[in-house]
Amino acid sequence: VGVFYRPLDKIAAVIETYPKGIAGFQRYQALLATEPDVVDRPGAIEAPALRGDIRFEGVGFGYDPARPILSDTSLAIAAGETVAFVGPSGAGKTTLISLLPRFYEVTAGRITIDGIDVRNMTLASLRRQIGIVQQDVFLFGGTIRDNIAYGRLEASEDEIRAAAERARLGPLIDSLPDGLDTVVGERGVKLSGGQKQRLAIARIFLKNPPILILDEATSALDTATERSIQQSLNELAEGRTTLVIAHRLATIRHADRIVVITEDGIAEQGRHDELLAARGVYRRLHEAQAMQPAAAADLLPLTVGT
Ligand code: ATP
Repeated sequence: VGVFYRPLDKIAAVIETYPKGIAGFQRYQALLATEPDVVDRPGAIEAPALRGDIRFEGVGFGYDPARPILSDTSLAIAAGETVAFVGPSGAGKTTLISLLPRFYEVTAGRITIDGIDVRNMTLASLRRQIGIVQQDVFLFGGTIRDNIAYGRLEASEDEIRAAAERARLGPLIDSLPDGLDTVVGERGVKLSGGQKQRLAIARIFLKNPPILILDEATSALDTATERSIQQSLNELAEGRTTLVIAHRLATIRHADRIVVITEDGIAEQGRHDELLAARGVYRRLHEAQAMQPAAAADLLPLTVGT
């Protein structure tokens, strides 16, 4: 599996509350500086507490106006639904999902949440209600507590501990001499890939947003870790509208709906079995994967190649 350019990686840190005064803030400012000019509209409203009913209506977008990536794309996602996006690499899955928190602005059509155009909400009130977990978890050089509280700075000690427990970080924290106050990162305890993922999951449990974006890893953790992280992610997705850029068969199989994106837009959608029976693009992607070595069976790169 190659390393692909993933816009979400570069900019997702921007989505969170900025931890003023916490080491690492400067890096966020650097990231902010790379963000395109998406700003609050005059008269933008504070989004109310959202249920997470999402609609893409005739959405068009291209990074370069001369080269559209999405055109006239429509999709309705019910509050609480889990939708997995799959398709060939470069088809536009990440791009489509990046439009929801307005990392980029649609050039045609609109995206609404609970009937409100996302462009009419302030960026802060929109992004507060969207959590993102991605493959490269961003840690800053503070304590575990700081790194979790980054999901919601005013959280109490009990809330931070509860979020850590729900993300199954309890055993790790208990094993460290300073517990939640253990410094992590370059100057502290180095966390494994799986532990970092759990930290990101704890952040989102704490933040408790109605909408969740999961950018699944393409590269493998070991299978046992992978399974247990997947379980935590499933728990995290419970009761939230969840959009997954999916690579793992486990996610894809269990999604309420799979949306297959190709360069021509949404090619098909349905459940795993329905799409297999339809003998279309999904089935072809799936069959191509079946040729992969068995060790990769749980991490099928449904996005690889065209
Ligand atoms: P993958 O599974 O490989 O991540 P994807 O389906 O998520 O692919 P996108 O990352 O959305 O695809 O990319 C869609 C197209 O947009 C590709 O041609 C990609 O090169 C291009 N692209 C992505 N991000 C940018 C960007 N920030 N600027 C310019 N072009 C971009």
